[in-house]
Amino acid sequence: MSASAVTSPKTKVTALPGDGIGPEVMAATIRILDAAGAPIEWEYAEAGAEAFKKGVITGVPRETLDSISTNKLALKSPLETPIGYGGKSANVTMRKFFELYANIRPVRELPGITTPFSGRGIDMVIVRENVEDVYAGIEHMQTTTVAQCLKLMTAPGCERIIRAAYGLAQAEERKGVTVATKANIMKLTEGMMKRMGEKVAAEFPDIKPGHIIIDNCAHQLVIKPEAFDVIVTSNMNGDIISDLAAGLVGGLGIAPSSNLGDHAAMFEAVHGSAPDIAGKGLANPTALLSASIMLLRHIAAFDVAEKVEQALFITLAEGKNLTGDLAPRGHGVGTAAFTDQVIANL
Ligand code: NAD
Repeated sequence: MSASAVTSPKTKVTALPGDGIGPEVMAATIRILDAAGAPIEWEYAEAGAEAFKKGVITGVPRETLDSISTNKLALKSPLETPIGYGGKSANVTMRKFFELYANIRPVRELPGITTPFSGRGIDMVIVRENVEDVYAGIEHMQTTTVAQCLKLMTAPGCERIIRAAYGLAQAEERKGVTVATKANIMKLTEGMMKRMGEKVAAEFPDIKPGHIIIDNCAHQLVIKPEAFDVIVTSNMNGDIISDLAAGLVGGLGIAPSSNLGDHAAMFEAVHGSAPDIAGKGLANPTALLSASIMLLRHIAAFDVAEKVEQALFITLAEGKNLTGDLAPRGHGVGTAAFTDQVIANL
């Protein structure tokens, strides 16, 4: 058998370098993945500010949509939401176009990152509905003094996100799923999510079901974050509590996420384009790198995922080559030095 015959085929993934610090954290992430021997062939595509400037009102050119449609996988850097030009958010465009209804945001303590909550054993996943709710984009002025926004939730939309949460709990051998809603006030929309939680829970007798009112959830996340396992919630609630939860373990600079649909998956950092540090070589690539580790597991490249994750953990735990957002004041290194250290630890 020839050598090429035994080489496993590479998976094609669309890479969106994005805006601001996006190209810097993307280059760092791909350098680490390539050094680790990730079985991925990158196909670069454009979205965000450059596309808006060229007059693409969605911020996502046709070729980019075609690339993701074909590859069904994307690693995406942050995209700026332009103010004063452009039609809408390129991020929302892609979530809707590919029906990426499940936003998965793992939150756990990382080695070497000290916070007021360190040592509590925080390890949870927030499953946020990603395409419905007040993000459906139906908003208008009723009169000159009254604005209205429609909160749109559907039974199939609630069902698939609750199923995604239970499926994830089962796959990761997690013990419980908590549905977090405002069902006490919005009995039809949020209530639908609560009732769907009860219906789907009956099919998963090994997983402990729960329900919590979203404001109490925010409270409990601060008082007793280690008590949570999987939390599933609607779009707006999830947007807010997942940032809160990221703050418990070190902030947005290290928080990854995936956007999953039935036909495509997109992996990204939770943070934005950080215009204040863009182009300075200071960005921390940990969040996008962690999202790429989720991507590796998604394509079943478990060995490489483990290798990259261990190298990242060792680098964070060593603590001597951390970017400015994590290092003690005045002791931060640049993106390149941090990336070199992760590669050295592979
Ligand atoms: P931001 O996340 O870009 O920045 C907030 C703060 O965190 C800044 O001080 C920034 O320097 C810091 N920071 C963020 N990521 C960092 C990293 N990797 N390393 C070191 N420091 C980091 O939030 P913002 O300023 O509110 O948003 C800027 C732009 O990003 C806006 O146009 C917004 O719409 C967009 N945005 C995009 C996404 C996305 O593409 N998914 C998400 C959020 C915001």
